[in-house]
Amino acid sequence: MQIEIITIGNEVLSGRTLDTNFAQIARAMEEVSVQVGWHSTVGDTAERIGEALRTALGRADAIIMTGGLGPTPDDVTRKAVATLLGRPLQLNEQVVESIRARARRMGRKLPASVETQALIPFGATLLDNPVGTAPGLLIEHQGRPVILMPGVPQEMEAILRESVVPLLRDRTGLKVVTFTLRTAGTYESKLQEKIGALPQEWPTASLAYLPSYFGVDLRVTVAGRDSLETIRVAEKAYAELRAVADPVLYAEGAMTMEDVVAARLLERGLKIAVAESCTGGLLAKRLTDTPGSSRYFERGYVTYSNASKVGLLGVTAEELAMHGAVSEAVALQMARGAAERAGVDFGVGITGIAGPDGGTTDKPVGTVFVAIHDAAGTVARLLKMTGSRAAIRERATQTALDMVRRRLEGLALEGRLD
Ligand code: AMP
Ligand code: MG
Repeated sequence: MQIEIITIGNEVLSGRTLDTNFAQIARAMEEVSVQVGWHSTVGDTAERIGEALRTALGRADAIIMTGGLGPTPDDVTRKAVATLLGRPLQLNEQVVESIRARARRMGRKLPASVETQALIPFGATLLDNPVGTAPGLLIEHQGRPVILMPGVPQEMEAILRESVVPLLRDRTGLKVVTFTLRTAGTYESKLQEKIGALPQEWPTASLAYLPSYFGVDLRVTVAGRDSLETIRVAEKAYAELRAVADPVLYAEGAMTMEDVVAARLLERGLKIAVAESCTGGLLAKRLTDTPGSSRYFERGYVTYSNASKVGLLGVTAEELAMHGAVSEAVALQMARGAAERAGVDFGVGITGIAGPDGGTTDKPVGTVFVAIHDAAGTVARLLKMTGSRAAIRERATQTALDMVRRRLEGLALEGRLD
C-alpha cells in the first residue's frame, strides 16, 4: 500500500512551523509497513487543497491529510475536500454534542464555532479526538481511504495512534515487527561494513541506518502475511544484528543513554557528580532529564574559568600552567575533584574546545578530554570531533555518558567494532 501525506497550513508552507506532523505520520507508517510514496504541503486555500487531493487520488492507495480543520475562517480543508469529492457538508449532531459536553466539562460557553466544526462531509466516519474538539474524519472514496486530521500535533498524534494506525494495520493484513538497536561510538560506514550482506538473509525485513549526534540507530521492520514466519525472521535479524553490534550497543527501542546510565547507577546505589567546562551544564541537564534523578545525581559544576576549576574542584595551578585548561591532566583533576567535593562515588570531568574559535594546531576545535573517576581510579579519553559547536557539545556528553555506562557495566572505556 502506497500512501500520500498532505500537510496543510500557510505556517508550514512558509517554513515557520516545522512539518513535524509529516514526520510523525511517516514514522507511524513504517510500523504498519505502509509505504509513503508522496508528501506534499499546501497553504490554506480551498483551491490548492482540492488540487493536492485530486493529484493524490490519481496515484496513492490512501491519503492522509492534516491541518485546516479548526474553527477559524482560514480553516478550509473540510470545505475543499467536500467540494472535490462531491460530498456536501452536513451538520453532525454527534460532533455538536461532544463539543457541548467538552465545553460543559471545562465550564465554558458553547463556542460559536460549533457550527463550523460540526460540519462533516456526507458519509464521513468520525475518528475520535480524545484531546480536542475537532474529530478526525475518514472518507472512503472509490475504495480508497481519505483521512483528515487536525493540525495541532497532540491532537493529530492521538488520532493517529488510536484510529489511523489500527485502521491501516487492518487494511494491509500484514503482521509487522519492528525493533531498534542503538549504538554509540562508531560510524555508519563502519557498521555497514560489519553488517555487510546479512540483511539479504532476511527476505521480508528492511534495515535502516539512522545516524544522529547520539550515535547510529539500527532500525529493522519486518512485514509479512504469515505472522509466525514474520516473527521468525525478526528474531533471526535481531540475534544476528545484536551479535555484530554488541561492542557498541547501548540500548534498544526508545531508551536513551541517560536512561541506561540512570538505571545502572540506581542498580548499584551510586551517586554521580559532574564537572563541565565546554559542555556548559549539558551533561548535568541530560542526567536530570529523567524523573527521579535526585536518587543518583548529586550535583554539577560548570567551571568555565581557571579560577573556578581551582576554587570549586581543586584543580592545581601547576597543571593548568603546564598543560592548559584543555588537557587530560585537568580533566582527570576535574573528575576526581567533582566526586570528592560532592562526596559521591562517581565523578565526570569534561574540558575541551567546542569552537568555532579557540582552536590551535595542537588542540584544534573539537578536542575534548573526558575523564571519569570512581573507586577503581581515574581515567580519561581524548576525543577528536568535527562539526558545529552544538554537535561537538552534544557528542561530548554522549561519549561521557557512554564512558560512565561502560565503566558501570565493567566494559573497556571505549567500544570498538573490530
Ligand atoms: P490547524 O489545524 O491547521 O488549525 O493547525 C493548528 C496548529 O497546529 C497550527 O497553528 C500549527 O501550530 C500546528 N500545525 C499545523 N500543521 C502542522 C504540521 N504539519 N506540523 C506541525 N505542526 C502543525
Ligand atoms: Mg491551519
